[in-house]
Amino acid sequence: MRKKIIAGNWKMNLSIAEGSQLVNEITATLSALPDHKEVVFAPPFLHCTTLVQQLQGKNNIYVAAQNCSSFAQGAYTGEVAASMISNAGIQYVIIGHSERRSYFHETEALLADKVNQALAAGLRVIFCCGEPLAVREAGTQNEFVANQIKASLFHLEADALKHIVIAYEPIWAIGTGLTASSQQAQDMHAHIRSSINAQYGANVANELSILYGGSCKASNAAELFACEDVDGGLIGGASLVANDFVGIINAMP
Ligand code: PGA
Repeated sequence: MRKKIIAGNWKMNLSIAEGSQLVNEITATLSALPDHKEVVFAPPFLHCTTLVQQLQGKNNIYVAAQNCSSFAQGAYTGEVAASMISNAGIQYVIIGHSERRSYFHETEALLADKVNQALAAGLRVIFCCGEPLAVREAGTQNEFVANQIKASLFHLEADALKHIVIAYEPIWAIGTGLTASSQQAQDMHAHIRSSINAQYGANVANELSILYGGSCKASNAAELFACEDVDGGLIGGASLVANDFVGIINAMP
């Protein structure tokens, strides 16, 4: 069975104390997670080690970094190497979020380098893709997203795909309150899975978890998660409020 994953992307929000309290509130109300279900917290870098310690011994709950360097080590002021992230006890890293692609000009070639660094360090990658509104309006979203995946992931060997999770996040739905309909999400997730199938075969495609992100809330999560190819969510705003995030986690069967 594919892993079902609910990941909270805190972006650049919360102090270390606020983050720690939020995680306490969430874990206190969560019932034990079955083995096919994971919860991931992606706080800012400075919070990561606090959360790793706080979550020790909690089954199926992990920490993710929101970014890593495309370089292994050296004179790159301000960067954090994937090996350092892994060494700090963190299991996941988010790569290719649309905010990093647009505000920090991350190109597909750079993202491919980051993916390589992350995998070499033993991290699991949550690789984000998704189209802007103009592409959706032009009806070319399938090609657009397939090209993003191809450019940054298709150099990998099939075995490496075990460590990849894809998050489909239509840019027009991120932080806007506009959610993709469950049909739009399902169509794109099925398209992503069929692109993976064409490149790597059915075994790899069927094992790959594909998350939806973009204004996912407790009120719409159940409908999205009921779609055959939607294996969870990458949650921004609603991951900052304990009740909302718990509601989303509980919406995943
Ligand atoms: P949102 O963000 O849930 O606030 O729309 C999702 C994301 O950017 O990962």
